[in-house]
Amino acid sequence: MSEDRESFDMTPAIADRAIGLMFQSPSACLKVEFQGGESLLNFDLVRYIVSEAKRRNDGRQLEFVITTNLANLTEEILSFSEEHGISFSTSLDGPAALHNANRPRPGRDSHAKTEEGIERLRQRLGKDAVSALMTTTAASLDQPERIIDEYVRMGFDSIFLRYISPYGFAVKSSARIGYETKKFVDFFKRGLAYIVDLNRRGIFVRETYTQIVLQKILMPGASGYIDLQSPAGMGISGIVYNYNGEVYSSDEGRMLAEMGDRTFRLGTVHDTYEKLFLDSPLLPMIHESMLEGVPGCTDCALQPYCGSDPVFHHRTQGDFIGHRPTSSFCERNMAIIKHILTLLEDDKETASILKSWL
Ligand code: SF4
Repeated sequence: MSEDRESFDMTPAIADRAIGLMFQSPSACLKVEFQGGESLLNFDLVRYIVSEAKRRNDGRQLEFVITTNLANLTEEILSFSEEHGISFSTSLDGPAALHNANRPRPGRDSHAKTEEGIERLRQRLGKDAVSALMTTTAASLDQPERIIDEYVRMGFDSIFLRYISPYGFAVKSSARIGYETKKFVDFFKRGLAYIVDLNRRGIFVRETYTQIVLQKILMPGASGYIDLQSPAGMGISGIVYNYNGEVYSSDEGRMLAEMGDRTFRLGTVHDTYEKLFLDSPLLPMIHESMLEGVPGCTDCALQPYCGSDPVFHHRTQGDFIGHRPTSSFCERNMAIIKHILTLLEDDKETASILKSWL
């Protein structure tokens, strides 16, 4: 949904087809996530999809999440969201100067709008109705403590120290905001050390990626995190219905299509469920993402805790598998997983703080 409404808004007819496909999923729990452009600019369609999905629900557990910058939040949106149990996800990159530099708006008020929106949502829908995600840019690298402090100041009890992905937002400004993997790993370790120290001082806050890895190490079973699974979670844990009716295996795959590469397009909402899932490029992608068969991962000790990202490897290395010795996905995960294992092994107090996050 975008401010150029004629060209980029999903029609109710396309939404109907997408809802029909969604209910052909065998899953007992279905989560509908609205992503933009800016989801709140076409709230009539959000309202239509929520109402229609609830009307057609055949006994599944239904969840709705709106991803938004919160700048266009209205009383009407709050009331509807309260009535239907909708939750929200927004972006918060850190303190105002950093957030506003990453997300320019006329008036340089992105951070103020986000903070105001978070407050309004919490007052109306409860503290847990809104979560925030940060993106690490080059300007973030020397201030993990300030970013974490901002999350704590705004009342969040978790923060996801996220690597910037090579699509969309990142590509448009890569020269300005990109960085080497090693710098991200240093940023991550420094941030994690600070978070553990806050916990030591009685401030409960978790780092989300660490929590996902810990879950894989200490509580074997699916973590549910799409980007660290084998096989990859694309098409299995989520699917993307684009505004124009095209269907993609993941949001990153959709972003690549915006850059001219339609490799991850599975078809359209007018195709059958069987065609999209069984007779499309999806199965080869999933097949090639199984770590047990990926050169380099087959004999890696970290394999049970790691995952696969075919879109990332296709984008950065030219195929779904990639080349592990030169893959920044591998470099980042190997460094982070080893670091977490070392913390668990070497320092009893830190290990007990980390375990308390599960
Ligand atoms: S750390 Fe690298 S080699 Fe090991 S499983 Fe992960 S991606 Fe594969």
